[in-house]
Parts: sequence; structure tokens; C-alpha cells
Amino acid sequence: MTFSPPQSDILFALTAQAGFDRLIACGAFPDCDLDLVRAVLAAAGDFAQDVLAPLNRPGDVAGARLENGEVRAAPGFAEALQSYGQGGWSGLAASPEHGGQGLPRAVEQAANEMMHAANMAFGLCPMLTLGAIEAIAAHASPDLQAIYLPPMVAGAWTGAMNLTESAAGSDLAAVRTTATPTPDGAYRLNGQKIFITWGDHDAAENIVHLVLARIPGAPEGVKGISLFLAPKFIPTPQGGIGERNGVRVAGLEHKLGIHASPTCVMAFEDALAWRVGEENRGLAHMFTMMNAARLGVGVQGVAIAERAYQQAFSFAQERRQGRPVLAAQGDGPIADHPDVRVNLLVMKAKIEAARALCLLTAVEGDLAHAAPNAADRETARLRQDFLVPIAKAWSTDRGVEIASLALQIHGGMGFIEETGAAQHYRDARIAPIYEGTNGIQAIDLIGRKLGQANGEAAKSLLAEAGDIAKALASHPDPRLQAAAPFLTSALSSAVQATHWIEAAKLRSLPDALTGATAYLTLMGETLGGALIAKGALAVLASETDPAQRDARIRSLTVYAAHVLAKTPGLRAAIELGALALGA
Ligand SMILES: Cc1cc2nc3c(=O)[nH]c(=O)nc-3n(C[C@H](O)[C@H](O)[C@H](O)COP(=O)(O)OP(=O)(O)OC[C@H]3O[C@@H](n4cnc5c(N)ncnc54)[C@H](O)[C@@H]3O)c2cc1C
Repeated sequence: MTFSPPQSDILFALTAQAGFDRLIACGAFPDCDLDLVRAVLAAAGDFAQDVLAPLNRPGDVAGARLENGEVRAAPGFAEALQSYGQGGWSGLAASPEHGGQGLPRAVEQAANEMMHAANMAFGLCPMLTLGAIEAIAAHASPDLQAIYLPPMVAGAWTGAMNLTESAAGSDLAAVRTTATPTPDGAYRLNGQKIFITWGDHDAAENIVHLVLARIPGAPEGVKGISLFLAPKFIPTPQGGIGERNGVRVAGLEHKLGIHASPTCVMAFEDALAWRVGEENRGLAHMFTMMNAARLGVGVQGVAIAERAYQQAFSFAQERRQGRPVLAAQGDGPIADHPDVRVNLLVMKAKIEAARALCLLTAVEGDLAHAAPNAADRETARLRQDFLVPIAKAWSTDRGVEIASLALQIHGGMGFIEETGAAQHYRDARIAPIYEGTNGIQAIDLIGRKLGQANGEAAKSLLAEAGDIAKALASHPDPRLQAAAPFLTSALSSAVQATHWIEAAKLRSLPDALTGATAYLTLMGETLGGALIAKGALAVLASETDPAQRDARIRSLTVYAAHVLAKTPGLRAAIELGALALGA
């Protein structure tokens, strides 16, 4: 159950597929070059492998526990969180003004992939803290920033995101927690939140809760929700730990997976809180955190897929059954059965596609802030907005699919806990649910993102993919040529389905919404395929190692045959609209 950090694959995705050179060229990250990125990834890989991976299975078995009204983190997790902070990992992309290192968020996501792969339950705590840091930095008053950001960036305090209530899950308009103003400009929160990840624990000095609540008299629905910051302990004026706030863990959920990540029922009982950002604009502000967290969850999908793949690959080299037709003299491990081999190759290719999609989304997110001119920032923002739901949903669906295939490759042993394949499958299953279910991501994609600025983001991404398909078709290598028609046909399906969805939105919402998930999947498969092709073209242009070249070409050909070839079927499903419901 060892984990081997895939640093070179991640670096390849950043540079050859996600366009990281645009971040270096934009001038906003003068201290960041490829040598630094390589060094950061190497150190992140070491930390993931040496510190986090050994805690993964014990954390699954022991879980977090509720004792005397306090959550105790699983054994070793508090020490690991301390090392994480001391290693500077919480501050990688935070502003130097708050003690951070000011690196691109794309580098942070790249490093985080290895942390999640090593230990997904652990990775959630920093992931939510990083999202909270981003939201506080973007929307909180300078006073709040001065108190809360330095210890959070230093990794001493962690963050939690409090949206969900028992009657307000996907529909946050139903949030009922109240925030009553106090005479000195603060608020008192009252209400109960459920499913709060790392909402309570003993692994950090303080926990900073970002909470959605309503100020009395606020309008109904999402236009009456504001965002608040409520710490577990009220900081002293010197920034130390002061008295206990009215924030209490009221229960701990028992779950299918991520056992070491405490999922808490949180009671806010006259909890002292401060507003973050404008009154009644809380949901919009929280989206700063949710966009970061949604991409972070997409990265978790890639991470758990990579971890499960590594384990399945290694098992398939050892296990012997039957006489595999791909083996010399018919004697070899199960990896030499074509059915097992093709599964492994498809898994690897899908990981490559999902990783490239997530890192492309991260690079666009960085450019949305850092590009030197306003038009480029706006283009990048639109592309990031469009890509976030795809990166979240497509990657996490692949995470579950690949963890399931990895278990399958283990045969009966996959179903037995001690091999560890089952844990990856159980852990992977939450990612399509939280941070907005994948169904909600699909609705967000077609309802809000697709039509923004006259569909500019989809048009530009599909146009770039079209150029890649042309480059494949005219490439001298026959293997690339053979893949070209599959990418071209997927692109044609994606373009036609986009027109169909846009027209259906005006004509009949049930028609458009019935195909929403199929549309998101079609976009994920197609854009992911274009990125794999981009990688294969890059490797043929620059790489001299034949093994590296063959590996990338193999990813492209297997992805063309086993993923892109199926995309016209997705288009057909989309265009059936509500007829598919028998309506
Ligand atoms: C382990 C875990 C950790 C979590 N961590 C956090 C956290 O840290 N902070 C936090 O605030 N929340 C957290 N959540 C909550 C999580 O974000 C919600 O569970 C999720 O958003 C779905 O809400 P729900 O469970 O109420 O499902 P529901 O909203 O009831 O949805 C049920 C089903 O209906 C579908 N559905 C609902 N509305 C629509 C619609 N309009 N159109 C189409 N389909 C729809 C959904 O896709 C889903 O399949 C966590 C949950 C879990 C299980």
C-alpha cells in the first residue's frame, strides 16, 4: 500500500498541458520559475509519502472520535497538521503580506494532489483552511484579516465552512441560522449546521468558522444571506487564544469513508461573530471559498484515482491467473490479460485528462487575478468559471470509477479491507457529493456558466481543442493521425450539443436539464481528450526518451478508442431531452 508521488506527471500536466508558462510570462510571480516548482513538488511528494501516507490506513480504522464534547483527531493527525504548518504548506499561495509565499494557486493545487492521494481525510483540513484564507483575504475587513490570516497562513489555526443545515443542502436559500447585530458592530449567531468537515478537533489551537446566516429582517432566499466569521476561541487583543466562544460540536457523523475527517454537527449558541463582506452578499462571498474548494475537490478526485491506480497496477504485476495472451509463452501476471491491461491504460489516461483539466482550471484562476491587462483577466475568469464545475464533477466521477476499477482488478481481495483498495473506493465516494453535488455542478454549468459573455469560454476552449485535433491529423506519426478522427468527432458532438442546450434553455427547461449531466460529461471527456492530445504532441516535439513518448501516445490512443469514441452517444442522449423521461 505504498504511495509513489507522481511529481513528474504533475509537472508535465502543468507545463505541457495546462499552460503554466503563461503564469511565468505574466510577470505577477517574479520569484516563481520551473526549478522552484520542481523543488516544491519534490518536497510536497516527500511530505505526502513519509508523513501522510503512513497515517491513511490507521486513520481509517481509528477514525476521529467525540469524547466529552470535544473531537479527538485520529492518532498522529495532530502532529502531521503541525508539521504541515511548520513546513509552510498552508502559506504556499497566500500573500506575503500575511506571511505566505505568494506562489500561484496552480502550484498549491499541484502539491495538494499528492497530499490528498496520500491521505484524503487529512487533506480536507488544509483544503478548507486554504479556502477560508482566500475568502477572508478577499472579503473581510483589514482588522479581521490582521487577526486571523497570520495564524491561519502559518498553519496554527484551521478553517471550516458552515453552509449546510438539515433543511438547506443543495438549496441554500433555506438557511435559517440567525445573526443578530450587537451594539458594538459584531453579531451573535444562533442555529445548527450539519456535515461540517473538521468543524471541531484538537489538532490546532483555534478553528475559524465561516458561517452563512440571516440578519433579522433580511430578504427571503439567497439575497438575504450574509457571511460571518466565528472562531472557536475568541482571540485576545495580542492575537493569543482567549475565551471559549458559543460554538459547540453537537455530534459526529458515522460515515462510509474518510473516517479520519471529523464530520460535525455544529451548534452556534449566541456565538460571537463578525460579518465578512457586505450584508446580504454572503453567498456571493462564500463562492470565493467554494470555487477554491470545488476545484480542490476535483483535485481530490484525481488524487484518489492516482492512489487507487498505483495499487491496482502493482497488484496486476504480481497476481497470476490463467495464461495471459499478451505474455511471452502465455506465462505472466494478470496485467498481461488484454482486459486487465486495457482497464489499467484507460485508468491512467483518464487520470492524465482529469489532472490536466484541474490544473488548467487553476492556471486560469491565477490568470484571472494576475494577467497584466483587464481583457485577459476577464477571459481567464470566464474560462475558470466554466471549467470549475467540469473539473469538480468530471474528476470526482472519474475518482469513483477508477477506484472501483482498481478494486475490480484486485478480484475478491479488493473487497477485503486489508488490501486497502476498498478504502480508496469508500473515500472516493464522497467527492461527487460534497461542495455541491455533481448534479448541481451540471446545472450550474448549463444554467449559469455556459451562457456567460455569449458563451465565450466554451467557444475559446473548443476552438483551441479544434486546433489540437488539426495538429493530430497532420502529424507524421500514424498513431497520432489515427486518434485525430475520434477527437474531431467528440468536438463536433460537443459543439452541436452546446447549440442544442442553448436553444433548449429558451424552449423547455426540462429538455435542457435532463441532459445536464451528460453535457458536463461530454465536455469533460472532450476537453480532457484535447489536453491528452496536447501532451502527446508536446512530448513528440521535445522528449527524446522513447519510453516517455510511447507512454503519452498510448494514453492518447487508448483514450481515443475507449473514451472519445463514445462521445457521440452522449450527444444523442442530450438531444433526446425530456423525451428520455418518457415525457
Ligand atoms: C462527509 C461530508 C462532508 C461535508 N462537508 C461539508 C462542509 O464542510 N460544510 C458544509 O457546509 N457542508 C458540508 N457537507 C454537506 C454537502 O455539501 C451536502 O451534503 C451536499 O451539498 C448535498 O446536500 P444534501 O445532502 O442536503 O442533499 P440534497 O440537497 O437533499 O440533494 C439530494 C439529491 O437531490 C439532488 N438535487 C437537489 N437539488 C436539486 C436541483 N435543484 N436540481 C437537480 N438535482 C437536485 C442532488 O444532486 C442530490 O443527488 C458535507 C457532506 C458530507 C456527507
